[in-house]
Amino acid sequence: MRCPNIIPYPMNNIINVIKGDITKIEVDAIVNAANSSLLGGGGVDGAIHRAGGPAILEECRMIVARQGGCKTGEAVITTAGNLPAKYVIHTVGPVWNGGQKNEEKLLANCYFNSLRLAVDNSCTTIAFPNISTGIYRFPKKLAAQISINAINQFLESNTTIKLITIVCFDDENFQLFKRLPGR
Ligand code: ADP
Repeated sequence: MRCPNIIPYPMNNIINVIKGDITKIEVDAIVNAANSSLLGGGGVDGAIHRAGGPAILEECRMIVARQGGCKTGEAVITTAGNLPAKYVIHTVGPVWNGGQKNEEKLLANCYFNSLRLAVDNSCTTIAFPNISTGIYRFPKKLAAQISINAINQFLESNTTIKLITIVCFDDENFQLFKRLPGR
């Protein structure tokens, strides 16, 4: 039976797209669309800190003390506190500024660097939200294409990751993924 809230991505059997709440997903690492302060914010960031409890923020503070936050396109890893995941990978998506500020490359870097950090921490399963498509206003269709391209590019040279779940929270993103080229 086909479940309308889960789409196996046809290009390979590693990527799945689902509609849901990333704080509920039981995988090795969930990715947070954080901001460069790493000290919490709205959207998925707020949801992850609320559901995960204070341990995540505590570790973020230690990272800030050590390296002064996280640059756009880069990623850091912490415990997942009370969440069912083992780790939270915090990556900072680009704010959309019309597309002339390297936004596309920076968004792809979020996916590459998060996947690299997951592999470095022996994770084989990872879940992503639709980075930058909320408060940071990245056009959703373009962001969906960039995310799938970046993930597939990473998978070409890496066999550690066994399952990548893209978690769409809003229906617009979910519908866009259903209509991506190749579907
Ligand atoms: P950004 O600042 O990178 O745009 P947001 O958190 O505002 O980050 O939005 C990124 C995406 O996360 C949006 O598509 C939003 O719908 C989605 N989102 C918000 N809450 C959740 C959640 N609990 N699980 C998964 N995705 C979420």
